[in-house]
Amino acid sequence: MSEEIIYGTQQFPTEIKQQNDAKQVIIAWDTGESFTYSMEYLRVMCPCADCRGHHPSQKKLIFGKKGVGITAITPVGHYAVKIAFDDEHSSGVFSFENLYDLGKNHDEHWEEYLVELKAGGKSRMMWNITQA
Ligand SMILES: [Zn+2]
Repeated sequence: MSEEIIYGTQQFPTEIKQQNDAKQVIIAWDTGESFTYSMEYLRVMCPCADCRGHHPSQKKLIFGKKGVGITAITPVGHYAVKIAFDDEHSSGVFSFENLYDLGKNHDEHWEEYLVELKAGGKSRMMWNITQA
């Protein structure tokens, strides 16, 4: 590779490990950091227009994804990966900037998601238990 691209302060992955049995992805970064992402976490944080909308008010609450798997992670240019999930959702292009943030600030993002789930009356499970 001979092309020179200036990326500023952006972080780049040095290794992306897809662990299907554990339903997680481990990404090592050029900062020396390494973050673990559950596939469910990546799915509910999907940045595609369908999931996020074009405005915060259009953001969809994604639920029932506990145990979701990833079928493919493919590079998109020099800046992102496309992640296809086994719930047939494959339009999510995760920029490295976004992925780094999702790893670095995992607990805050996850906590925020759990609060949204609860507020929306939804669950991480693919099924619901109702009391008769
Ligand atoms: Zn999406």
